[in-house]
Amino acid sequence: MYKVVLIPGDGIGPEVAEATRKIVGATGVEIDWLVVEAGTAVLDKTGELIPQSVFDAIEAHRVVLKGPITTPIGGGFKSINVLLRQKYELYANMRPVTSYPEIGKYSEVDLVIFRENTEDLYAGREVRVSEDEVHGIKVITRQASENIVRAAFEYSKRKKRQKVCAVHKANIMKMADGLFLEASRNVAADYPDIEYSEVIVDNMCMQLVMYPEKFDVVVTENLYGDILSDLAAGLVGGLGLIPSANIGKDCAIFEAVHGSAPDIAGKGIANPIALTLSAAMMLDYLGETTAASRVRTAVYRVLKAGIELTPDLGGKGTTKKLTGVVIDAL
Ligand code: ATP
Ligand code: MG
Repeated sequence: MYKVVLIPGDGIGPEVAEATRKIVGATGVEIDWLVVEAGTAVLDKTGELIPQSVFDAIEAHRVVLKGPITTPIGGGFKSINVLLRQKYELYANMRPVTSYPEIGKYSEVDLVIFRENTEDLYAGREVRVSEDEVHGIKVITRQASENIVRAAFEYSKRKKRQKVCAVHKANIMKMADGLFLEASRNVAADYPDIEYSEVIVDNMCMQLVMYPEKFDVVVTENLYGDILSDLAAGLVGGLGLIPSANIGKDCAIFEAVHGSAPDIAGKGIANPIALTLSAAMMLDYLGETTAASRVRTAVYRVLKAGIELTPDLGGKGTTKKLTGVVIDAL
């Protein structure tokens, strides 16, 4: 029996979390879910975005499945997502993006984005210099850069992936991105069997749209990784399909790439697959690799058959019905 912390989140979070829990339950892997609330829902009740009970649960169990949590814009709120990644040093954010048959605009995408998760412009160092001037400080360290690049190469080695591409803007940010690249090259030198390349981020956007099949493993800084992963999601059918894992030394949080989607929250039409595939990454992490591949295969079959697809995938299905057919496929 595994103990996993479940944060349903807000917006569509509770709907996709419920669906995912059912699907994971259907694999037969026994999980004791410790459900804890965080986000705007508890803010109204307790005055805190993350109550201490959430930190306690994470520290006790170290594995978390998390729904999206809205960050109130402005108003001095730090993103809960960013806070958790920094607090638990979840330095590697891994986002696999794969084509499914009959869905999305491209059929041969199979790439994995490794996004640095703890620094860059997300470090939250903003300084108001005057009424009319703010400086947002971009923090890049050799250590964090090496950590993420090494995670990308180690993954490539383990999964027999052939190529790693580092994405940067060192032509403009000569010092910050220059350091990222230097760290990246140092790590790449330890893996002579894996092809290493570098692409400037704006060019990468164009290349990904024109030839996404050329890319294998992509490694980049925090902000570029955020943007590139939404772009990559758009190539293969949208945010409703893309899972992610935030991995640190002794703690991991699995969550969908998408946000809380307030535009469709409460309507029963959110796509649960992104969180379900995040749960499959969690099963892999727990060593339940057979159950993980069964979940992925079930999702693949349902998407291929095109049954009960939610509106984001062009269908007329609902969260509940799509969940039901995935469980049947399992
Ligand atoms: P964040 O800042 O948290 O990343 P965001 O502004 O990028 O949030 P999302 O909440 O990810 O926005 O939503 C972007 C769009 O994608 C919305 O139109 C939303 O309805 C759609 N979307 C996101 N997730 C899903 C899902 N699981 N099922 C269906 N549509 C989704
Ligand atoms: Mg987003």
